[in-house]
Amino acid sequence: MSYIKGISGKIDIKSLDLEELGSKIRELGEPAFRAKQLYEWMHVKMARNYDEMTNISKALKEKCREHFDFTALESVTVQESKLDDTKKFLFALADGNMIESVFMKYKFGNSVCISSQVGCRMGCKFCASTLDGVERNLLPSEMLDQIYSIARITGEKISRVVVMGSGEPLDNYDNLLKFIKLLTDENGINMSQRNLTVSTCGIVPNILRLSEEKLSINLALSLHASNNDKRKELMPIANQYEIHQVLDACKTYFDRTGRQLTFEYSLVGGVNDTDEDAAQLSELLGGLNCVVNLIPVNPIKERSFQPTDREQALRFKNKLEKNHINVTIRREMGRDIDGACGQLRRRHLEPVEK
Ligand code: SAH
Repeated sequence: MSYIKGISGKIDIKSLDLEELGSKIRELGEPAFRAKQLYEWMHVKMARNYDEMTNISKALKEKCREHFDFTALESVTVQESKLDDTKKFLFALADGNMIESVFMKYKFGNSVCISSQVGCRMGCKFCASTLDGVERNLLPSEMLDQIYSIARITGEKISRVVVMGSGEPLDNYDNLLKFIKLLTDENGINMSQRNLTVSTCGIVPNILRLSEEKLSINLALSLHASNNDKRKELMPIANQYEIHQVLDACKTYFDRTGRQLTFEYSLVGGVNDTDEDAAQLSELLGGLNCVVNLIPVNPIKERSFQPTDREQALRFKNKLEKNHINVTIRREMGRDIDGACGQLRRRHLEPVEK
């Protein structure tokens, strides 16, 4: 069996499912129930190290240290929004890379938005995460530990997770799947698959693959345009997969899973927010069981895109509604704390301006 390796090259203990951990623990000459105890410490009690594991013998802890990497993210900064209850976390990984995650408090429960890669290689024009390309994929444990760390630091229960931070989750497919397995495992924190949303820029073969996995997670597609030419201007992935191919893949996902689709549409002033865009978008999505999330683009200083103003955003929304499309204008949470993808990490990477 090939196990996922951590940063130092040893097996990454927090990326193992209970069965895999059981085999490893037996190989180390320990009884299988020890695996269950270790798993519970990591994935239910969210322990940050072996020292916290009070019912594990010193000898076993030593063996574990020798054979495994233990992923525990280090919180570098926490920014708290003054406008809402959003908190943005910058975490350091064991190799010194930085990632960001966002905690959002809603009336109906708390959500965490996690990153799936360090950086991103998809090149969307308005997005800060992709400006330096991708550095590496995150391990399943590094995705999980964003949630565990935030739960520990805030003391709050996390009821929903969205994979909408930096990175393209379907470009890190195998680790994403393992992450989903661990997050929704009844022996772990046992989150319902229905409370997990994965957002993609539209890697068609992997959407189709995901639709075969017999999961009931939600799929969000970053659409951002009403036709392929405009989409190409904003998202290089549109050169690879034509807009109708992407929508067909989403339909297949819906047919196989029964989960309502979400389309993300960042409104960019004068680029994709005209009345004609609203009409084309309505036609494109007509008849689909879906909801459109409109969000005025969050300007990044490296690009000149400007958000659509409130009035035009409402006009756009009304037009879709008239055409019977479910639509919401998403609250721009945490705008004052570099809330958009990759902004905080970039700020950290840059030298302080004099
Ligand atoms: N790669 C995935 C998930 C990460 S991005 C995807 O493309 O869906 C999460 C969402 O934020 C995407 O819809 C993305 O297009 C959007 N986004 C990124 N930067 C943004 C910005 N500056 N303003 C508004 N939305 C942005």
